[in-house]
Amino acid sequence: MSESADIVIVGGGLAGLTAANRAAELGRSVIVLEAGEGEDYYCNSRICMGFINVAMGDIEAGPDSMRRSVDAVTRGFAKPELRDALAENAQAALRWLRRQGVTIIKGTWRPSNQAMLAPPSAIGAGLTWRGRGGDRMLRVLAVQLKARGGALRRGVRARELVMRDGACVGVFVESAGARSEIAAREVLIADGGFQGDMELLRQYVTPHPERVLLRNAGTGRGDGLRMALAAGAATAGMGGFYGHVQSRDALTNPKLWPYPTLDMPLSGGIVVDSRGQRFCDEGLSGVHVANVMAKRDDPLDAFVVFDHAIWMQRAIEFPLPCNPLLVRHGGTLHAARDISALAGMAGIDTAGLATTIAAHNEATAAGQGASLSPPRSSHAWKPMLIREPPFYAAPVVAGVTYTTGGIAIDGSARVLREGGSIIRGLYAAGSCTGGHEGGPVSGYTGGLGKALTFGFIAGNAMAGANAVAA
Ligand SMILES: Cc1cc2nc3c(=O)[nH]c(=O)nc-3n(C[C@H](O)[C@H](O)[C@H](O)COP(=O)(O)OP(=O)(O)OC[C@H]3O[C@@H](n4cnc5c(N)ncnc54)[C@H](O)[C@@H]3O)c2cc1C
Repeated sequence: MSESADIVIVGGGLAGLTAANRAAELGRSVIVLEAGEGEDYYCNSRICMGFINVAMGDIEAGPDSMRRSVDAVTRGFAKPELRDALAENAQAALRWLRRQGVTIIKGTWRPSNQAMLAPPSAIGAGLTWRGRGGDRMLRVLAVQLKARGGALRRGVRARELVMRDGACVGVFVESAGARSEIAAREVLIADGGFQGDMELLRQYVTPHPERVLLRNAGTGRGDGLRMALAAGAATAGMGGFYGHVQSRDALTNPKLWPYPTLDMPLSGGIVVDSRGQRFCDEGLSGVHVANVMAKRDDPLDAFVVFDHAIWMQRAIEFPLPCNPLLVRHGGTLHAARDISALAGMAGIDTAGLATTIAAHNEATAAGQGASLSPPRSSHAWKPMLIREPPFYAAPVVAGVTYTTGGIAIDGSARVLREGGSIIRGLYAAGSCTGGHEGGPVSGYTGGLGKALTFGFIAGNAMAGANAVAA
């Protein structure tokens, strides 16, 4: 046995560094293992946009409001115990994050943008993160951890949990080709999910992972899920992901991911396949449309279709407007004065597209979206008529930001077995956990809010403290 600590944490993203700092603040010795190398190791927390919300609502709205928001966006799919833990601890966790020296500002007027990591990400296409909110936050948390006597070991990848008598008592790690063991009273898995692993994506999320866009850092490789499964953990909420609908050109043009997305034009228009047929309820959200696309036989057979009014009204929406960023950065947008010319340019069946648009317009004008097959809901995103030329069609791909299913935990971030008993000594937090979000309508409850709050809960629980009272 080469080394030991009270607590070992797998992953130095927001969930891991929050738990580490909280536990160190409460007097525990902590080692964080981070597979990435260098001070600015890449991960989703570092490259994120930085809006911290709960289910698209204000994270400071209070527990009752947050509970309602989580139930509404997931249609009751979120486990009540996780929903309650999130709602009751999110505000305290955000206050704690501010106290660490992380600057949080108001983003926009939207409820989901009331808390944003600063400085904000630049407005524009592609990925800009250096010196921005997520990058600065992780640097602040790393400095704080060092000041508290904790260690952040970069370039060290956790490979296997050390189990004794059914309890987790350490981690086997790999660093520079050598394998060693670190003993711990408690281990937290916070490795960020499995969106960066093709085989796990194929197993749980899409039959064709090579036909979706990895709209993420690629560092969540499912190590945590595999280690937890080997230790007897249960999974929760498998199958879904948080993501967006993106230009198909983003598969080869880095300027087109993670922004702009095509969510806003599809909020008013339709999504069709090459037969011109709709295949999902566009009114639910871009996250939902991306999930449905990913599960189809050919995830790449999809086009967002809309008209000039939608392009001028919805697609210009702040902060990262698809109009004009999509075309400016080389994304394909077919435009034509009539539907048959548009169908010809895009390679969509002409009669199929004309019939689908006519049905969409008739149902939209009559407020009868529910009569369509598949139905078109309007409580979140109101459909618009597709009637004002030029008409547009953009070939699209499902962009996967992070997997929403994962390791099953309880409200104290303790890892559960099938049947509900806990695995002693083992905790998990952040995007590697499941049961918070996803489900039949792909409800999104907020990746940063989840990582921060459950990292905070885990730090408290591992140090034996009461989270809400902190
Ligand atoms: C482009 C983009 C924009 C986003 N914008 C927002 C937003 O505005 N609001 C929001 O709420 N969410 C947003 N998200 C999602 C959010 O960033 C994540 O949900 C959150 O940061 C996840 O935190 P985490 O700590 O669980 O995982 P991560 O930040 O991914 O950290 C996990 C860490 O674990 C490390 N690791 C993995 N395997 C091992 C191993 N075996 N051993 C050691 N270390 C390992 C990884 O290298 C990584 O550093 C965005 C994501 C992306 C990609």
